[in-house]
Amino acid sequence: MIAPPGAGKGTQGVVIASHFGIPHIATGDLLRDHVARGTELGQTVRASMDAGALVPDEVVLQMVFEALDASGSDGYVLDGVPRTMAQARSLYDFAVERDKTADVALHLDVDDDELVRRLLARAAVSGRTDDTEDVIRHRLALYYEVTHPILDWYGERGILVRVDAHRPADQVGRHILTALEVLKQVVEGSPGLPRRAVDLTSLGRAFGAST
Ligand code: ADP
Repeated sequence: MIAPPGAGKGTQGVVIASHFGIPHIATGDLLRDHVARGTELGQTVRASMDAGALVPDEVVLQMVFEALDASGSDGYVLDGVPRTMAQARSLYDFAVERDKTADVALHLDVDDDELVRRLLARAAVSGRTDDTEDVIRHRLALYYEVTHPILDWYGERGILVRVDAHRPADQVGRHILTALEVLKQVVEGSPGLPRRAVDLTSLGRAFGAST
């Protein structure tokens, strides 16, 4: 899943993982758990996370590779990674070796005003140290600078699915699961077939969303 902070990756990641019975590996959650437990890794990344900066690629990748191998599962939902082109390439190499490359790159599309509104609302209850207005704006800027450009790479591979994520979470989840169920048939039926990116972002308008 590639999406800006506040787009709903966490919520939809859980929905997808439980629907398909596969693990949901969320780097933000794993890192926050390290910080809370005061592990060596947690102490290394704490300051970057509080500032809304990225933690080093090697640190995140090592953590994700371990989680993927430990899961013992063929399927997985990755949430919060890749966030840089270097992470995307390393993950791809790792997955090629294990014949586990991504079947879908899911992009949740939400405009900035809505993202900031959601993040500030969440800030009031989340207790997350990076949910202050300045840090939120920095995380968003970083997303557009280094993460958003990765989408083109997935688009070229024909595995990109774009979903309008302005609507209520249950509606967004329904669109995602419908698209993934259809794609699953395609991937399982003809794994080598060249594919095209799927753009469902007009569904929101078609079903009366205000944006
Ligand atoms: P959000 O999507 O709301 O910004 P996450 O929970 O995914 O939040 O991530 C929180 C923080 O954890 C990020 O701001 C960053 O400091 C760190 N982080 C998470 N994933 C990565 C990653 N793949 N690469 C570098 N830093 C990461």
